[in-house]
Amino acid sequence: MTIALYPGSFDPVTRGHMDIVERAASLFEQVIMAVAINPNKPKAFEAIERQRLVEQSVKHLPNVSVTHYEGLTVEFAKTCGATVMIRGLRAVSDFEYECAMSQMNRTLHPELQTVFLMAGLEYQFLSSRMAREVALLGGDVSKLVEPHVEAALKATCNRK
Ligand code: ADP
Repeated sequence: MTIALYPGSFDPVTRGHMDIVERAASLFEQVIMAVAINPNKPKAFEAIERQRLVEQSVKHLPNVSVTHYEGLTVEFAKTCGATVMIRGLRAVSDFEYECAMSQMNRTLHPELQTVFLMAGLEYQFLSSRMAREVALLGGDVSKLVEPHVEAALKATCNRK
């Protein structure tokens, strides 16, 4: 059984992330979506909230589980028994960073294969940051995130 790890900040999870995980779930027996905790990088949503939102999003995918982790992604992949790491690639913006990251991860853990899935056409320019900014300015984010994420975005905007 191939276990694929899909790590990310998911701050918050967007329809672009969902497009990737749904496709990964059809390719691999088991997919673990893992929310990265990096105390040095402040996030809009706490890790527990980011994880809760992802959990709600993947309820319809029986072979996808959700967790969180701290530290090196490759070490976490070893802990989970994952042999594949999923990453999404948008237009040109992700290429350089993702290329460097996959080379570094390969050096650290040669048995872990990074598999890139191209972002869907409608999600090429969608990022969590973009969704947060549109929400903060009162724009319609329904095409960017799912309804429960939209509600969470509105709640954080009201707190600000
Ligand atoms: P990270 O901080 O690890 O980059 P993100 O939550 O921003 O966390 O992204 C996690 C993964 O999802 C990355 O591989 C990123 O390229 C991919 N991704 C982000 N947004 C999209 C999108 N709109 N379409 C496809 N993949 C995406």
